[in-house]
Amino acid sequence: MLRAFWVLALLTLFGAPLVVYRGWLLVPPAWNPWAPLDVRQPPNLLTGYKLMRLQQEPELCRLALDSSVLRYTAVANSESAAGCAVESAVRVQRAGVQFSSSFLASCKLAVAYALFEEHGLQPAARKVFGQPVARVDHLGSFACRNIGNSQRRSQHATANALDIAGFRLQDGRRISVARHWAGEGAEALFLREVRDAACDSFRVTLGPEYNAAHRDHLHLDMGLFRLCR
Ligand SMILES: [Zn+2]
Repeated sequence: MLRAFWVLALLTLFGAPLVVYRGWLLVPPAWNPWAPLDVRQPPNLLTGYKLMRLQQEPELCRLALDSSVLRYTAVANSESAAGCAVESAVRVQRAGVQFSSSFLASCKLAVAYALFEEHGLQPAARKVFGQPVARVDHLGSFACRNIGNSQRRSQHATANALDIAGFRLQDGRRISVARHWAGEGAEALFLREVRDAACDSFRVTLGPEYNAAHRDHLHLDMGLFRLCR
């Protein structure tokens, strides 16, 4: 009886993925861990795993990017100062929204942004204001520097992080992290929804509640750690 249990458990653990991997059983791409990430599909349990895979597989990352509305140009790999090499990066020109300026992003960060905009940011804007965000104001993505006063390289050093300062809605209304985070109005509600939604797409999301250094922006990154504050 016990042996039958283990046989069944092992079959489930290793057999089911093998059957999917070899294509003997067709599952929807969203539920196939080896299928490219499709940004249009709502995130599910496999999305985090698929995002992490993009790091090692530039081809897969490009496929994921091309499933999004992002307009971007490829950027050649660079070898700058120690710890600041940028690999398989893109320059993001625009998405469904316009940006205050184009920005350099690791492919993985760009894909995470696309997921965030489609499934987090715009649904939050429609829910709170009844209209979409038209423009995202950011403070930059790439900077060859360490975290605060530490010896550790920031995710910004490899263009793996983006700092967002605010949003402009379709009707021109402006929402700023610095001005509206602490308030009680619709803007504050919206900013909190956006922060929570960002946690679903990015590995790290840090806002004003984290520390004073983040009082005026949301820091979003695709590093190894996981943190949502
Ligand atoms: Zn940052």
